[in-house]
Amino acid sequence: MDPTASSEAFATMAEAASTLVNPALQRWRDDGGRVIGFLCSMVPEELFMAAGLLPFRMRATGSTGTDLADAYFTNLNCSFPRHCLNLALEGEFEFLDGVVGINSCDHIRRLYDNWKRNVDTGFLHFISLPRQSGPDQIQWYTQECRMLRDALAESFAVEIKDDDVRAAIRLANQGRGLQRALYALRKQERPPINGEQALVIMVAGTAMPKEEYNALLSRLLTELDGVQGEGDYRARLMITGGILDDPAWVRAVESVGGLVVTDGTCFGARLMWQDIDEEAEDPLEALARYYLADRPSCPRLLDTQEKRTQFTVKMCRDFNCDGVLGEKMMFCDQWDVENYMLDMDLADEGIPFLRIDREYLTSATGQLKTRVQAFIESMGK
Ligand code: SF4
Repeated sequence: MDPTASSEAFATMAEAASTLVNPALQRWRDDGGRVIGFLCSMVPEELFMAAGLLPFRMRATGSTGTDLADAYFTNLNCSFPRHCLNLALEGEFEFLDGVVGINSCDHIRRLYDNWKRNVDTGFLHFISLPRQSGPDQIQWYTQECRMLRDALAESFAVEIKDDDVRAAIRLANQGRGLQRALYALRKQERPPINGEQALVIMVAGTAMPKEEYNALLSRLLTELDGVQGEGDYRARLMITGGILDDPAWVRAVESVGGLVVTDGTCFGARLMWQDIDEEAEDPLEALARYYLADRPSCPRLLDTQEKRTQFTVKMCRDFNCDGVLGEKMMFCDQWDVENYMLDMDLADEGIPFLRIDREYLTSATGQLKTRVQAFIESMGK
């Protein structure tokens, strides 16, 4: 019996993951609260929380096409920013009081440039992201955090003290701890939740007030305590890659006998596998060190490829995975190169790896199911 089926907490999170404006976010706005959208998980959302603003990790849930956006992007651009811009041009992001862009890749940078010229959003700020994670870059990113803090303070007429940032770090870490506890359940032979449900819970955490989300997740963890899942799967899988915010894609994978038990994506484990240092003298330096060096990174950072492979291999071992799916968006050059190297590294470890290109919208899943099925069979499962 699926324990989430009767869970109010899970239902609330599922609504938050399947829409842009969920009831909790709407209540926040109705009470006069402001919402800041940000385009990449490398953006230090704790600064928005410290300013009393609600962080909203941008996604294009509900998009049906890119007709409007294709006037500004070519079809050789990643479809994630294209769908985001299309929704913005349709007015779907009017609930945002500001947007923070970052040069996490050229496609996202171009989205910000087009947004700035074509979408009327109050507060706009751009973060310059280093390509390495050494001491010089941490100082560089600390300065970027200071500039973001000052821009928020001026634009929203609030004072952001170091203690406000520390409080935001503690609250965010509390949520990360709960999410790690959720992932720990997936190490079981018969986990109480599947990969689709886990992604729902993770996406919801990027679109609700943290206090409310943490309370919901605590309740769900109590409900899942001691519960065993069906266990009727053929292979335990890990997913690596960039932006994956659509549970329907994971559902397609799990419909052919794969059970996704962990991941290394930027709506998944990379968001919470590490906590931010709560004892640091300078909380802004702690943020910079966390986002650049401490947490599992993405291929945007050129000096951490080995660390990423070690993270992937350790996750596979700890979650007893049979294989890894390397999903990536079409035309994503960063993950293209990464998957090429990961393929070789995992082969050295004897871990089967399947590279899968995808578009942002999960539409025709026939080919995906066929490839995953063949992958599972190739493992003798
Ligand atoms: S998936 Fe790749 S190309 Fe698309 S926004 Fe992310 S990093 Fe950029």
